[in-house]
Amino acid sequence: MSTETTPATTKVAFLGLGHMGGPMAANLVRAGYEVLAYDPAPAAREQARADGATVVDAAAAATAEADLVITMLPNGRIVLDVYADVLSAAKPGTLFVDCSTIDVADAKQAAHLAVAAGHRALDAPVSGGVGGATAGTLTFMVGGPAEDFAAALPVLEVMGGKVVHCGGAGVGQAAKICNNMMLGISMIGLSEAIVLGEKLGLTHDKFYDVVSTASGQCWSLTSYCPVPGPVPTSPANNDYRPGFATALMTKDLGLAANALRDNGVEGRFGLLAAEIYDRFNRSAGDKDFSAIVTDIRNRSHRSSSEG
Ligand code: NAD
Repeated sequence: MSTETTPATTKVAFLGLGHMGGPMAANLVRAGYEVLAYDPAPAAREQARADGATVVDAAAAATAEADLVITMLPNGRIVLDVYADVLSAAKPGTLFVDCSTIDVADAKQAAHLAVAAGHRALDAPVSGGVGGATAGTLTFMVGGPAEDFAAALPVLEVMGGKVVHCGGAGVGQAAKICNNMMLGISMIGLSEAIVLGEKLGLTHDKFYDVVSTASGQCWSLTSYCPVPGPVPTSPANNDYRPGFATALMTKDLGLAANALRDNGVEGRFGLLAAEIYDRFNRSAGDKDFSAIVTDIRNRSHRSSSEG
């Protein structure tokens, strides 16, 4: 790959054109990059073609032509399968950038496989959701060698508003799951406090008035309040339409729980948060993760009437 990563010098393969990958690839096309796109889903391929990407019939065909390969896939198993499929087709030194949210261990394994095959690799998971993917304002958390980060930066900046080099291989995924583990724990803690306040006669408005400037203040309350009213833009005001779906929070907490166990961390709140969201996810449908407050409220009513 040329040392300069510009639309004129860089062909990008984009594998995985779903809710996130589709609009991210479209932003690269708009910025002037030639994008070779692949997804097994016909509707995703159709949309990518309409967005101006060159759609190909196989991941390896896209990769063979590319200088930089971006993957945006559902899970680590699929990322590793795709890498096994495409690494031998790529030109030596191709830069692989995996933007999927996957296990830290899988991210390290993917980077190891790419490097062993003579390529370069970064993990670059994102936050910002479909809105950020569409607007090109995602936050990228990147793990891998500094020179590879520098090479990928112009491409990532097209899709992101903030790009942070977090450390070596897997450390981008580490930043993502650490943040989301804190978010899951804080949303549960806040929701328990709100329901306790309800039982004790504290209105949501008064709760917000006090806690938003007291030591219990947190992002879950002041930007994403899980009950309607105090923060008009929060999903609670829109029947908990995401936002950040419960299924995605459950997935990320599962990854955090794996990492806690793998690394022998005494992470009881993280493990419990994963368990609580896993249970809620079975009945949550497509609700935003902040709807956990409704589950806590329902279960509290049940246990007090049963008990
Ligand atoms: P998605 O299910 O909409 O898209 C995944 C796409 O990958 C699908 O179109 C699927 O057909 C495709 N795919 C499956 N196997 C493939 C293969 N072998 N080769 C090429 N493509 C293949 O999921 P999404 O919401 O776009 O999420 C993608 C990743 O981004 C996930 O890891 C997710 O955790 C992460 N993420 C999602 C969000 C969000 O708000 N949706 C936010 C941050 C991170």
